[in-house]
Amino acid sequence: MSSEKERLIGKDQFRDRLATVSETGGRNWIYAKKPSGRFYNARTIVSLLLLGFFFSGPFITINGNPLLLINILERKFVIFGVAFWPQDLHLLVFGMLAFIVFIVVFTAIFGRLFCGWACPQTIFLEMVFRKIEYWIEGDASAQIRLKRAPWNAEKIIKKVSKHGIFYALAFIISNLFLAYIIGKDQLFEIITDPPSEHAGGLAAMIIFSGVFYGVFAFMREQVCHFVCPYGRMQSVMLDNNSINVMYDYVRGEERASVGDRKKVEVGKATLADLGFSENTSFGDCIDCYQCVKVCPMGIDIRNGTQLECVHCTACIDACDDIMDKIDKPRGLIRYSSENIIRGEETKVFTPRVIGYSAILVILLSVFITLLTMRSDLETTILRQRGTLYQTLPNNVYSNIYELKIINKTFDEMEYEIRLLAPEGELVPLGIMETVPPQDLAEGRFLIKLPQNQLTGLQTELTFGVYVNGEQIETVTSGFIGPAN
Ligand code: SF4
Ligand code: SF4
Repeated sequence: MSSEKERLIGKDQFRDRLATVSETGGRNWIYAKKPSGRFYNARTIVSLLLLGFFFSGPFITINGNPLLLINILERKFVIFGVAFWPQDLHLLVFGMLAFIVFIVVFTAIFGRLFCGWACPQTIFLEMVFRKIEYWIEGDASAQIRLKRAPWNAEKIIKKVSKHGIFYALAFIISNLFLAYIIGKDQLFEIITDPPSEHAGGLAAMIIFSGVFYGVFAFMREQVCHFVCPYGRMQSVMLDNNSINVMYDYVRGEERASVGDRKKVEVGKATLADLGFSENTSFGDCIDCYQCVKVCPMGIDIRNGTQLECVHCTACIDACDDIMDKIDKPRGLIRYSSENIIRGEETKVFTPRVIGYSAILVILLSVFITLLTMRSDLETTILRQRGTLYQTLPNNVYSNIYELKIINKTFDEMEYEIRLLAPEGELVPLGIMETVPPQDLAEGRFLIKLPQNQLTGLQTELTFGVYVNGEQIETVTSGFIGPAN
């Protein structure tokens, strides 16, 4: 095989294997060189802001409600201070659909900008855990040396302190995570009460801590490769107009190291000796591998857009630094699109983006309409399970009903239930008249109907729910009576 062919086949090997998987199927641990540069600095500032937001989230309240609460156990959800109940499932579905379509539109235009700048996994891993690792174990080469070193005092101290800090951080993150699920008050109760009173909560804390520790200490980039659905889907959302972290192959190729260039320049080797064809002209890439060494995913961005790339921008900084050193313009690796690099026209509003945006507008319109139409009270009236009708004097029959009424507002509501049709009597059985803010009230009542109002075995009842004398809801239920 000619050396030109060998060289090109060598360049294509990334297609056959993952950088993090060894030939025997084991894990290739990534020792990423510590990044530095303007993008890394900017990402550090953005990460600090987002971390501040994440850590303060459970303690921020809007009208007494947490900013975000995903209480699956009690089926209570608060998003930006607005409480949603299981009865609002349709709203959540539309909200989620709109959010997913928004991500698709955003990705089609800006690629995986979210992964690099705002994803909690990237922020915690690159801006918290890896910084601690660099601080304790040093840069990539020092980490490799430490890995290969025998278990001496220095190695034990470094490894124990690193993993100790990692576990402590994972414990804090799991507590915060739990606060987003059960609320800060319940979390404080779990922490301050005797452990025997909150065995479930403590078990959740220990499990979450273990999961976060495992993710940030060991799994790391494998989460982005194999667990995150967004990363797996990105290839179908991107096209040649999408903005990505890209290597400008038009400017960079043919790549050759400084040493090889020198050899050709001074006549110590010919282009053919180095595996290039005769009319090769070298591009700006000096094949220094700095962009590969800083990559936390272990990939070579020069192979093009890849599933593994989380757009962390570390390779942009590394390459800009090299370009400064060799006196070439920055941006050999930069945010760009395939079309821009090829010198073709690039469009933001492609038919695909317009189509996605139209779907997004429709979903958002439906969501906002449903949200504004959402009634303040949500009432359910059901005949009490397991009961039949009772026969009263004067051909009157009665059924017992259970009432559930949810107050979605931030104010206490006084309500009244009236039977609108057919003509009959509503007798409260300890029924409540007020429902606390963002809460649920339950009660029972009796409906008495004279026989001439019955339409058969099953008669439909219509109730009106009144607040301040104004009917705000109509609810129907069934009444069973004897067959005529
Ligand atoms: S290729 Fe560049 S942007 Fe992508 S993950 Fe690696 S260093 Fe980050
Ligand atoms: S850092 Fe720049 S010059 Fe060096 S190998 Fe990567 S792309 Fe080429």
